[in-house]
Amino acid sequence: MANKKEKKKKDNKESKFVYKKKTAWEIFTNEQIKKSFDFCIDYKKFLDCAKTERETISFINNSANKSKKKIFINHGKSAAIVIPGKKPLSDGIRIVISHVDSPRLDLKQIPLFEEPSSNVTLLETHYYGGIKKFQWVVIPLAIHGVIIRKDGKKITFTLGENELDPVFSVPDLLPHLSHKVQDTKKLEDAIAGESLDILIGSQPAKGDFSEKIKTAILDKLNKEYGITEEDFISAELEMVPAFKARDMGFDRSLIAAYGQDDRACAYTSFRAIMDLKNPNYTSIGLFVDKEEIGSEGNTTAQVTTFLRSIIKKIDSTVDVDSVMLKSKVISADVNAAVTPNYTDVFELKNASTLGHGVVMSKFTGHGGKYSANDASAEYVAEIRNLLNKNKIPWQTAELGKVDNGGGGTVAKYFSRLGMEVIDLGPAVMSMHSPYEVTSKVDIYSSYLAYLAFLKS
Ligand code: MN
Ligand code: MN
Repeated sequence: MANKKEKKKKDNKESKFVYKKKTAWEIFTNEQIKKSFDFCIDYKKFLDCAKTERETISFINNSANKSKKKIFINHGKSAAIVIPGKKPLSDGIRIVISHVDSPRLDLKQIPLFEEPSSNVTLLETHYYGGIKKFQWVVIPLAIHGVIIRKDGKKITFTLGENELDPVFSVPDLLPHLSHKVQDTKKLEDAIAGESLDILIGSQPAKGDFSEKIKTAILDKLNKEYGITEEDFISAELEMVPAFKARDMGFDRSLIAAYGQDDRACAYTSFRAIMDLKNPNYTSIGLFVDKEEIGSEGNTTAQVTTFLRSIIKKIDSTVDVDSVMLKSKVISADVNAAVTPNYTDVFELKNASTLGHGVVMSKFTGHGGKYSANDASAEYVAEIRNLLNKNKIPWQTAELGKVDNGGGGTVAKYFSRLGMEVIDLGPAVMSMHSPYEVTSKVDIYSSYLAYLAFLKS
């Protein structure tokens, strides 16, 4: 009898050679789950005060200065925090890179106009990054940014975030009348980019002249900020969702907020570099701009002169190219979480899901790995072993089914410098929407992963 029972037990045992993806909820101790929830209290505060690239860099700069960390700033939109290592710089550096910009609606340079048939005044926008336009109408928007006045004074602008502030919004057509012009069109054509105009006022000035509402608004803006219409030309004003970051779900396990691509990684890597003490290798937390529009511009991942100048400033005797060739990088960016109701676009074995920890993407790009950074097996092994050794929940994924789309990160720009690079970051549901969703245990896993990497 005893023998028979034992045999049965053996047959039911799963092979230890099978790879099984485990959730962070299984891997983490209760204490770590509590730490994940606590970590996200500060994460939510950060998301609420850092909704643009400038605000994120200024948050990072202020925090780094307060705790006397060495920080370099590039044009107010990119930054690098440096922690010196025990080994010489010539042995290479460790870098975690994230981007601090998110999709949004930018104001045009001549944005103000009064629309006589509807008797309101609006602002013209040009959307920034990959958005699904129908997601950006009829939601409360706040205006953030800077205006450089004629006299050269920089006005920093934030309106729509406080409870008593006014908000702004893109109006949409009522369903009773939208059949022909919207409902029967292809989704991507239903809302035209040029129609993403923002409603900003309706009260006319008194008197007998044209554009009385626009005039009243310009008078108000001049009184409060000293600006004229021409000042909008030298401004960077961004319309972002006015929502606050919130817990999501009965169990509060998720976070819903604007801008988690990629400020989830900006915040977790910022916390990791701030918590790093006496690393073996000189470590850099690098924060770059304009990833969402192809990393073009003087504050982006393609500006290697920023990194080169930092290396030279740390030790002017080193050969910068040799340092780069020996360096190791994590491209900290988010991956797409499998979305319920749309599971068909994912190849589920190789897709990331909420709650399974930080996502490792060996490669990005699209169709035939085009435009991808494809990390070496050796580097994947190193990162995989590091995560396993530190019991950090992780999963591997690529973005969607083969030939079903795809996407890139800043990884390729650093691999071009001869560095080992891999993508690592949390999964995000509803990515690029005004209300992106992440899991608290994934956010904490990402922080632990970046810290373990920088310590290695
Ligand atoms: Mn991203
Ligand atoms: Mn993105």
